[in-house]
Amino acid sequence: MDVLTHALWPYAVTVKHKRWRKWAALWGMFPDVGVLPQLYFLLSNYGTKPFRGVNDWTSVLIPASWMQPYYTTHSFVTLAAVAGLYWLWKKRWAWPLIIGWSSHILLDMFTHGGVYANRPLYPLSNFSIEGVSWADPRIFIPNVIALVLVYGYFGWRRWQRNRVVQPHG
Ligand SMILES: [Zn+2]
Repeated sequence: MDVLTHALWPYAVTVKHKRWRKWAALWGMFPDVGVLPQLYFLLSNYGTKPFRGVNDWTSVLIPASWMQPYYTTHSFVTLAAVAGLYWLWKKRWAWPLIIGWSSHILLDMFTHGGVYANRPLYPLSNFSIEGVSWADPRIFIPNVIALVLVYGYFGWRRWQRNRVVQPHG
């Protein structure tokens, strides 16, 4: 999914927790730092040329070793390891991290294909689902509609709460 979607869904899920929601949104975006090595590879080898006129990103050849950071940040195994370390350190669960990060993997594992198909159990397993791209209108448009409905509801509720009750004249 796009990075905004990855921030907005975990924020919506944790909206009642004022101290969690911003962190949940940040951790929701975090796994995509795993694409930076591929961007670096493309820029250093081809300049900006491949960024123009590429319709099918899965056709852009990136060596397997440059894909590993992407698979690593999009894996429940990595998430479990980081959440486990946090628990050992603080003796409590990092819920914004767990909610944000897992929502990212759950959304991406069904909406990517080719080399960018997520491997949710990497490096234990290379299992992946050949999903429908998040940029496909069948995914993209319902997602935008759902986000508008959910955030519209939040806005409406806020307006209801803040509405000043007029005294009867
Ligand atoms: Zn992602």
